[in-house]
Amino acid sequence: MKILVLNSGSSSVKYRLFDGTATLAKGLIERIGEQDGEVADHEAALQRVMSSVDLAGLDAVGHRVVHGGAEFAEATLVDDVLVATVERLVPLAPLHNPAALSGIAVARKLLPDVPQVAVFDTAFHQTIPPEGTTYAIDASLADRWQIRRYGFHGTSHAYVARKTAELLGLPSATAKVITLHLGNGASACAVDGGRSVATSMGMSPLAGLVMGTRCGDIDPTVIFHLHRVAGLPVEEIERSLTRSAGMQGLTGDNDMRSVEHRWEQGDPAATLAFDLYCRRIKEYVGMYLAVLGRADAIAFTAGVGEKSPEVRAASLAGLTALGIAIDEDRNARSDRIISPEGAAVTVCVVPTDEELEIAGQVAAVLSR
Ligand code: ADP
Repeated sequence: MKILVLNSGSSSVKYRLFDGTATLAKGLIERIGEQDGEVADHEAALQRVMSSVDLAGLDAVGHRVVHGGAEFAEATLVDDVLVATVERLVPLAPLHNPAALSGIAVARKLLPDVPQVAVFDTAFHQTIPPEGTTYAIDASLADRWQIRRYGFHGTSHAYVARKTAELLGLPSATAKVITLHLGNGASACAVDGGRSVATSMGMSPLAGLVMGTRCGDIDPTVIFHLHRVAGLPVEEIERSLTRSAGMQGLTGDNDMRSVEHRWEQGDPAATLAFDLYCRRIKEYVGMYLAVLGRADAIAFTAGVGEKSPEVRAASLAGLTALGIAIDEDRNARSDRIISPEGAAVTVCVVPTDEELEIAGQVAAVLSR
């Protein structure tokens, strides 16, 4: 099947054209709508894609959509009802969903005869039981304002958990896997028999692990205090916790490579940031081991997870009593399996591929 995967951001469009699992073409159009940008809007961006790749015989377009709310538990064929629903969810993802909606509108207009499928970052987590998604706040407020944990990075966690089960030779339906997606954004997920049962991001992608520029878990009182005592307006607090927190806030640097470099030189801020980053991962691994009862595997993925032996080693250090250990040489080589032979829990490095997963889900929707 020939499938075009579109990831439309507010100022960029990433595309990849698949024939089955093979990539025919891919690219990135940036700075959309900016003065020195290549193109004026999403329509011009898609026109650019259409003129640079051969879309003859295209079977479908797959759109990455960040927030599917509680409405979408799987990839879904785009129609007017879907568009209206995603529009209704804009307040939950004000930065992300409008861009996806532009991408969908433009693709429907320029490719009217090609089926379009929306693939949601949140969908995989719809299997988390209510006690894992409900915040212990006034239930009527939560209900009225759609406040709950949704979770994100779902396509990546789904893909990596399945690949990990394959790597171990276990049927996906019984494998218990903890997936650690550590990119600029970062999240952990407990996957039981191919279903998400817990994840670290919440109502938004701000919760959970320490990230490049996002704070992860904090006491909500921090926000009241910054507002009431420090006098910061709420927009400024949101900006700070989203863009100037995490590794950026702790070290002035959001790139894990530079943080690690400074850590190796003994820089105190980088050392604290590195230790905090890894400790938070360890805390989630502990929680998810408890949620799952046991784990067949722990899988590291995305930029940091795939490329930093230091983060992998520090995050799982001292857990041998739980059957979790890392083989130094395997880890240094970033082998697929980095735990020692015969370890109770297999620790792996599994490169993620969200676009390939999206293409696969689109193909599945079409053949239903
Ligand atoms: P995104 O979440 O934007 O898709 P990636 O998954 O590519 O991002 O991850 C980006 C992160 O990976 C950055 O923080 C970068 O510093 C980190 N990274 C990339 N290569 C390495 C490396 N060799 N060692 C440590 N961190 C790395």
